[in-house]
Amino acid sequence: MVGKNDINEARNLISSRIYNTPIFHSRILSREAGCSLYFKAENLQKTGSFKIRGAAHFLLRLAKEQTVNGVITASSGNHGQAVAFVSGKAGIPAKVVMPEDAPDSKKEAARAYGAEVILCGTDSQDRLDKAHYLAKENGLVYVPPYDHPYIIAGQGILGLEILEQITHVDAVLVPIGGGGLISGIATAIKEINPKVKVFGVEPERSNSMYMSQQIGKITSKEHINTIADGLKTKQPGKLTFPIVKKYVDDILLVSEQEIKETVKLIMQYQKLVVEPSGATAAAAALFHKIPMKCTNVVSIISGGNMDFSKLHQLVE
Ligand SMILES: *Cc1c(COP(=O)(O)O)cnc(C)c1O
Repeated sequence: MVGKNDINEARNLISSRIYNTPIFHSRILSREAGCSLYFKAENLQKTGSFKIRGAAHFLLRLAKEQTVNGVITASSGNHGQAVAFVSGKAGIPAKVVMPEDAPDSKKEAARAYGAEVILCGTDSQDRLDKAHYLAKENGLVYVPPYDHPYIIAGQGILGLEILEQITHVDAVLVPIGGGGLISGIATAIKEINPKVKVFGVEPERSNSMYMSQQIGKITSKEHINTIADGLKTKQPGKLTFPIVKKYVDDILLVSEQEIKETVKLIMQYQKLVVEPSGATAAAAALFHKIPMKCTNVVSIISGGNMDFSKLHQLVE
């Protein structure tokens, strides 16, 4: 299991390659939330999301001879961008398998970072199978999006930064997709200061971690439809499920409308561009889902890669 020492080591390895992003306090949105509300702005991170932390750590841990043929991943979203960026910088050949209907902007961004884009159907399982097949066939390393100790330790650096930046923090709100982000953050925080609460946040429509924790075993959710496209994971990871069980205080759920409202509120009052997945944690604070009294709350703004062709969905 990943521990705080692994996270400290990850930080030593990659801190020169990532930003220690700022934390902003919002006076107006604090009033709305009924607590002192802070935003950890990973939308301002390199590549526009926190995913570069895990990806950079994973790739730096590979031995030289493992990387000669290159790496591959299957995400059209922030993980794909992060892998493309980090491999491009390190001179490692990268392939990113994307759905045929991925926005041109995402395909072009990955190519601009130096990756080869491979288009494959529209089903996420097909893309995953294709990536694993190509990895085996061509001797490539598959870079997992969340369920790996190096990925979790990389994301966990955020927990260290928050404890240093806001020493009086009472609670941290973290969005959950596959659970890599919250596993890293919760490990860092609970192993350093267990008094700080860590709450996960999921869309009501994509609540596989919530369901799995309720039932007590990994359970998958089918037919997911949410505007928070970075959180559309069918089921928790084998590694992330027990970490969340051990360290996360509670999982809070927010509606589609609450996520959309939060994107708009953060743009309007904080002047930050936030994608729906990136606004999901803050929605739990702004719509009073925290199940106890907390004075100082840090919400992770996990990404800012807004798909502008979907902007109209925010005002429907
Ligand atoms: C990937 C992602 C998440 C979820 O992270 P997991 O490690 O899968 O739980 C949240 N927000 C954004 C913007 C993401 O890209």
